[in-house]
Amino acid sequence: ENLPIRRALLSVSDKTGLIDLGHALAGFGVELLSTGGSAKALRDAGLTVTDVADVTGFPEMMDGRVKTLHPNVHGGLLALRDNDDHLAAMKEHGIAGIDLLVVNLYPFEETVAKGADYDTCIENIDIGGPAMIRAAAKNHAFVTTIVDVEDYDKLLGDMAKHNGATCPKFRKRRAQIAYARTAAYDAAVSTWMADAIGLDTPRRRAFAGTIAQKLRYGENPHQSASFYLDGSNRPGVATAVQHQGKELSYNNINDTDAAIELVAEFDAADGPACAIIKHANPCGVARGKTMVEAYRAAFNCDNVSPFGGIIALNQRLDGETAEEISKIFTEVVIAPGADTDAMEIFAKKKNLRLLTVDALPDPRAAALTYRQVSGGMLVQDKDNGHIAMNDLKVVTERKPTEAELVDLMFAWRVAKHVKSNAIIYVKDGATVGIGAGQMSRVDSTRIAARKAQDMAEVLGLDQPLTVGSVVASDAFFPFADGLLSAAEAGATAVIQPGGSMRDDEVIKAANDAGLAMVFTGMRHFRH
Ligand code: 5GP
Repeated sequence: ENLPIRRALLSVSDKTGLIDLGHALAGFGVELLSTGGSAKALRDAGLTVTDVADVTGFPEMMDGRVKTLHPNVHGGLLALRDNDDHLAAMKEHGIAGIDLLVVNLYPFEETVAKGADYDTCIENIDIGGPAMIRAAAKNHAFVTTIVDVEDYDKLLGDMAKHNGATCPKFRKRRAQIAYARTAAYDAAVSTWMADAIGLDTPRRRAFAGTIAQKLRYGENPHQSASFYLDGSNRPGVATAVQHQGKELSYNNINDTDAAIELVAEFDAADGPACAIIKHANPCGVARGKTMVEAYRAAFNCDNVSPFGGIIALNQRLDGETAEEISKIFTEVVIAPGADTDAMEIFAKKKNLRLLTVDALPDPRAAALTYRQVSGGMLVQDKDNGHIAMNDLKVVTERKPTEAELVDLMFAWRVAKHVKSNAIIYVKDGATVGIGAGQMSRVDSTRIAARKAQDMAEVLGLDQPLTVGSVVASDAFFPFADGLLSAAEAGATAVIQPGGSMRDDEVIKAANDAGLAMVFTGMRHFRH
């Protein structure tokens, strides 16, 4: 049934659009009730407003902790208008119905994002607002609930259409939005508290985010999608600034995340590094004396796949690198800053998006990752596992040389960011073959080697760069075949977790082939 709005309660922290809404509601002959700051704003604009304090018979008290928590408010929101008992109770206690609730909450998420101290965050937990929202939304058969400034126009549109009334469909949809808001709000509080007390387990967590972007579509054009922020403000794709190009797509965001997380493994202080990503897997990663050198080396791992790829740098983008990147079509470049000349070069590339971040994400920071499965969600600690040189255990007769060790460590860090089964050949600080996402480890080993052979032809080399390379495997070799295949491709040293039933067999094969092999004791599956 369409129900006329006669009495509205407006209580908003964000006063955007409040005055216009107040005028429009007054134009429909709606009586306005309001709390302190909102009432003042409305009154200053010349509107007639009843103070909630006059409705409750209590002043707003305790620094605003108690304003609207009173039966005269909650009874007015919750009473069923077609229930004789409820109507009798209203009459007996002098409770008048409230037909419309407009609330937006204390800015808890923004307060946390600003880095406010504990007590300030606590004080910004809204109590009365969510209570009213939940009450009004429960009673959507009779009451309209608006929690978002964006919905003011929709409210007025529905009222205009129905002669000052709202329709049941509108009220129901707003009720659903209202509960999404209170759920997200309390999830934000819970998540902040978990961080504040250093809770490092995925147990008893609540999940919600605030919508940052309605995406044009999802992974495929027939899928709709949105991008939500989790409120952590973690440096990365979610907090990056976009300088040019059209909106990022679902796949762009996913790939850009993979790119920046990977390149962040390489500390800017240790020199330039570059990662090129396609479908969330790297097709080339390299370090260099200069950024342009790092980019060229990454590109030379596979010069076909980077077309339409995503590039992440661990240092500022300079003009020379921008010039080199501009030679082919790239979807996104993300870096911790960009020089003016680089930005000028990219400005000519209309379809290229340039993103900058204030800082690289910390690959060792604790966080949670989520994955949807049918009927549930898997939650786990982010893989922030880290191996140092002295964690390595040499298991072969031959020890890796210094140069091999440096490349082994590089290969291992890349392996963490490649879909399993992951095999990565590295030579002189650059990947020279990447095998990703295969169901068999030996296939990954062969695919990576074959890529290197193709590139040897392209680059006019006598032999593939896998000859004299090192190789990383994200999980143990279950049999000697994968290792032998890597040796055949020319790898001289191996890094892998170890821990297979057949480690002895694999170690023997390594010794027979003259390989040096180290165990990390840590696995980096990535699915
Ligand atoms: P105003 O700026 O009008 O003084 O306050 C509006 C804010 O107060 C809104 O964000 C609303 O959610 C919140 N609010 C309304 N009633 C109560 C209450 O009883 N307790 C608390 N803590 N906040 C309330």
